[in-house]
Amino acid sequence: MNENIFTTVCPGCSIACGMYVREKDDGAIDIDWRKDAVVNAGKLCRFGVRLSANLKNATSRVDGNEVEFSDAVTAAGKAIGDGATFVSVGNTTCAEHLALMKLAESKGAVVNTGMGAFSTIPSECHPTMGVGIPLDAIEDAKKIVLFIDPYEQYPLLVRRILAAKKNGATVTAVGWKAVSLADENKTIDPANYESELALDSDSVIIAELNPSTDPERVMVLLNLAKASGAAIMFMKPFVNAVGCDLASKKTEQKSLDQIIAEINDGSIKTLVCLDSDLIEIMPDETAVRGALGKLDNLIVITSRASAITDVAKIVVATEPLYKKAGTVVNAEGRALQNSGEGTDGVDAIGTMMGQPVGMYDEIHAALLATLGIDAVDERVVPAYEKPDYAAMDANPTAEAVETALVYAGGPFFWNGIVDDNDFVEMNLDMVTANSLLKGIPAKITSDAGEAAVKFKVSDVAPGVVLSNVKLPMTTGMVTSVTVSR
Ligand code: SF4
Repeated sequence: MNENIFTTVCPGCSIACGMYVREKDDGAIDIDWRKDAVVNAGKLCRFGVRLSANLKNATSRVDGNEVEFSDAVTAAGKAIGDGATFVSVGNTTCAEHLALMKLAESKGAVVNTGMGAFSTIPSECHPTMGVGIPLDAIEDAKKIVLFIDPYEQYPLLVRRILAAKKNGATVTAVGWKAVSLADENKTIDPANYESELALDSDSVIIAELNPSTDPERVMVLLNLAKASGAAIMFMKPFVNAVGCDLASKKTEQKSLDQIIAEINDGSIKTLVCLDSDLIEIMPDETAVRGALGKLDNLIVITSRASAITDVAKIVVATEPLYKKAGTVVNAEGRALQNSGEGTDGVDAIGTMMGQPVGMYDEIHAALLATLGIDAVDERVVPAYEKPDYAAMDANPTAEAVETALVYAGGPFFWNGIVDDNDFVEMNLDMVTANSLLKGIPAKITSDAGEAAVKFKVSDVAPGVVLSNVKLPMTTGMVTSVTVSR
């Protein structure tokens, strides 16, 4: 059997680990370790290793019927008119994102990347929120503060943090669950971060920015970095979120919540999603499905079959990410080039706006200009300017709930895949207080309904039920719940 071997990146998160994908004649794929990949030296987390089992190619459809790719493109071109709203969170190449920006511009619109925090935080902060620090710099830090759980959310950061510890760094974790590699795990009121964490210019803060992140929380962390002189890095759940942000930085952006609200009030009738499944990405799946059902046209351009391809009016199925020609920019701002030569996605978007096929070269040149480089070289992180910014007034809303169901996030979560981790975690006090019994699922109830879920006892903060999987009764990343047997 013949094999095609592609040099590509794992689509699971913004670390963008390098890998090889071996494609056989029958289309099945195998993942192989790319030991000379500068980002991850060949290592992959569970998500990357299991990619072949979880990657399902999309099928082109119109009104639920399977159609030829070209017919789906034609139907999409007719359906996308002025007033359409566009979303691309960063699950595909910069080339496709830039092509969509051109299409959006031709309709008098912009492409929304879904990171609502960018719309509410002053623009001088955006370069610091967008591009992180080189991953190598984590290893040189003297002190690291984690506002994420690297094991669950960004697994390939673990080896960087362990290397820093070996070099003498101390690690403090501030989060919902104790992180075992941390020297200390703390719960700190945001008002006391500065005094309790005692950071300086040899420190590194690692946090996350996702579509549901409270902008006030981002401001608190930016203030902390500014006041202490510490470097800060916001990890993102989507492989090319940084590339999409860099391409879109001068455009007005709507948050995903705002887009859903505008669909509900009837001001958005046509939504175009490029490799962005709002049903998977947004915490309240029921509310998102309800809103999407009100659209006249839901057009999905995607390489992957997922929840949103089942409900879209038009699905334009492009080649899988590993086959695409193009570049992604990872969390540290490193540009990484795919060896694939597929331009179905770019050509399809070009056709939708009446452009001749073959837009890729022009778009790739525009990307290089945006990044300020002549060519993509994975060994070199382009130079990014990060202007100084003023301290901001920030009041993150502490949710005053007795028991909170909190989403942990992580590559499986953001890709809508129920992995082996189909359980929630809580501490022993909560298990005892609610008379839960080993082997019997816990009943978790919110205003939106209830679910019976397996549970595991972990070192989780008091009052928190931590979930790796989407549950039907959630209304946000944090949902007020009761727990019973
Ligand atoms: S999910 Fe993230 S950490 Fe895991 S292999 Fe993929 S890119 Fe690397």
